[in-house]
Amino acid sequence: MLWIGGQFYPTPADFNREANSVGVSRRITATPKDLVVGETWVYLAHREAIAKTCPACKGRGVFTVESDQEDIAGEEWATLLGSGEVVVDCAQDGCRDGMRFAPAIFSAFIPTAIEQVVAEDCSEEEAEKLRKRGIEPVIVKRADEDVELPIEPVE
Ligand SMILES: [Zn+2]
Repeated sequence: MLWIGGQFYPTPADFNREANSVGVSRRITATPKDLVVGETWVYLAHREAIAKTCPACKGRGVFTVESDQEDIAGEEWATLLGSGEVVVDCAQDGCRDGMRFAPAIFSAFIPTAIEQVVAEDCSEEEAEKLRKRGIEPVIVKRADEDVELPIEPVE
């Protein structure tokens, strides 16, 4: 199982959109021993795969309490109303814009290839060992001198 990070993919839909257009490619630190290329299912999980309307604020993002609760009336997430009530920002308790989130598996795929970056001096023996495990070695050469890339600023 792989966790899909919220930093690059705020929601599973963001990941799926990219996967549908360019396919799935994930960097892994180690290949699970029992993984068979072309056979084993890999599950994808996201920490915010399930979204539910927050029961505390009923989806409003804020809720109102009586202002006689003086212990919260002075907090920065609480706004005192003249009408004898306090509006409480629900975000302090894991609520975001009236929604609460839970982790779940949202997709799965069968890997069609595993590539491993190896150094230039990787022997043919080592490369063959990897190939026997279904892993394709990809030789990366170190540039001898600085290479200039044509990068143009985007405005
Ligand atoms: Zn809430």
